[in-house]
Amino acid sequence: MLPDLSDIDPRHLKIRLADAGNAQGIRIFCPCGHIGQLEIVPLIKRYGPEITFSHVERMARCEKCGGKHGLDARPIYTARIGSAGYST
Ligand SMILES: [Zn+2]
Repeated sequence: MLPDLSDIDPRHLKIRLADAGNAQGIRIFCPCGHIGQLEIVPLIKRYGPEITFSHVERMARCEKCGGKHGLDARPIYTARIGSAGYST
């Protein structure tokens, strides 16, 4: 698995979802080990363009353990190597 850009940029917490560039979605890590995913567009439609990853961490609830604390939300960037019409 390729590392997310967020792994090397702790500032992601203050980034608005709308400013996450070409992020494909949000991945949420729970301390219990559960990893969930959310789509970005529905969240922006529901909460507005000012919503940040920090907000998502505070609003989300783990589907597995029901926990709301210690969640870590990060943008998902999907590598699309080889999909641009090139071959080797
Ligand atoms: Zn959990």
